[in-house]
Amino acid sequence: MTLSLYNSLTKQKEEFTPIHDHEVSLYACGPTVYHYAHIGNLRTYVFEDILRRALRFNGYKVKHVMNITDVGHLTDDADDGEDKMEKGSQREGKTAWEIAEFYTDAFKHDIALLDILEPSIWAKATDHIDEQIVLVQTLLDKGFAYQTNEGIYFDTTKVKDYGKLVDLHKQELQAGARVDLGEKKNPHDFALWKFTKEEESRQMEWDAFFKKGFPGWHVECSAMSMKYLGDHFDIHCGGIDHKPVHHTNEIAQTEAATGKKPWVNVWMHGEWLIVDEGKMSKSTGDFITLQTLVEKGYDPLAYRYYLLQAHYRKQINFSFEALDAAAQGLKKLRQHVNKLTPSTNVDPHIRELFNNAINDDLNTPEALAILWTAIKEGSIDLNMLVEFDKVLGLHLHQPEKDIGISEDIQTLVDARAQARTDKNWADSDKLRDEIFAKGYIVEDTADGQKVFAK
Ligand code: AMP
Ligand code: ZN
Repeated sequence: MTLSLYNSLTKQKEEFTPIHDHEVSLYACGPTVYHYAHIGNLRTYVFEDILRRALRFNGYKVKHVMNITDVGHLTDDADDGEDKMEKGSQREGKTAWEIAEFYTDAFKHDIALLDILEPSIWAKATDHIDEQIVLVQTLLDKGFAYQTNEGIYFDTTKVKDYGKLVDLHKQELQAGARVDLGEKKNPHDFALWKFTKEEESRQMEWDAFFKKGFPGWHVECSAMSMKYLGDHFDIHCGGIDHKPVHHTNEIAQTEAATGKKPWVNVWMHGEWLIVDEGKMSKSTGDFITLQTLVEKGYDPLAYRYYLLQAHYRKQINFSFEALDAAAQGLKKLRQHVNKLTPSTNVDPHIRELFNNAINDDLNTPEALAILWTAIKEGSIDLNMLVEFDKVLGLHLHQPEKDIGISEDIQTLVDARAQARTDKNWADSDKLRDEIFAKGYIVEDTADGQKVFAK
């Protein structure tokens, strides 16, 4: 079975055909680095990681670009609210640049613990200001944008299919609804560039369009994805909340600038993880992080296993009871796997079933069910398991006792144990990074440190 993926643009599952024969171009919207990622954010990155691994499993090379939003994202996702980076800076009494660096590192550490493969290219918004200015200027030159005292806005009435991702044209604004247009001409128009207000003092601002200002959030993803993947590429993804505003605006401005459609062939969106029936919010600070789970003694990969038990397009209501059950499940699975050996006596039908599940729009719950059945029936061997785990990323075949780490890694791990006993967190973090650089991930659990190969 060939790979089929649900495309938010066409609203159906489609057989995936890349633009170029062997290499797939993939853009994933990355974190806004003003705070730690919460476990909901991380669900989206696990889904994208499964996508990337599934593409690789199907024999494609993947050029995967992820942005780091370190400027321009306001608290309401559109054009109002506080600037998230400046807010982080005020919260912690550090500069916005320091905040960005600190939370970028924290994010990279989180994804390593979840065995999420790093993108081929990290693209930081503040490293690509010139590209964003060029895009805004193109939109002004082509008549798709207009300037006000507050900024430069995209005129959504100039694009016939504006909102095609969510059928916005069918959703009339509520009759009588009061929309505060401010300086905008139309309700859906959005900021491409904002000018620094006179009374405002900003840490991140640039000279452009004859004033001081900063880019709107949507512009960065259009400018950077085009820079690295071109003006027509395969897949663009993010969380479900990106559909009505962020991705809708990205499509409008990019297709207006290039004059070509479609900009991206397949749009994919991961569903929400909610806690206590509510939305976790990075801006209120009320959220659970991966570190929270680690401190409670969970193996980060138990959280990954927990996520893979649900399809990425189904909402998950997080609970610790369910996470406990997943942690137990993963432990049992690893115990079974420890008993597997390479064998010639395997059932090839299992491979086919597993492939079909993954290729059916990344059906990980089905793939896990197939794996469990095969293990119970004894119809899978270690080699096949290792192959499957390349897609699942659960380190099923690497029980921590058996990884046989070298002496120099063990010395670092022991030194880190001592640093932790001494509550010397700075040294402990430094040693963790050193071990990471040598190819291993250290996890702190209730039973002490666990070490995995990356
Ligand atoms: P942010 O760092 O806020 O820009 O968000 C990073 C990613 O996490 C985006 O792709 C969001 O769509 C996604 N996201 C935010 N909240 C959740 C949630 N509760 N569940 C799943 N994904 C989320
Ligand atoms: Zn984006």
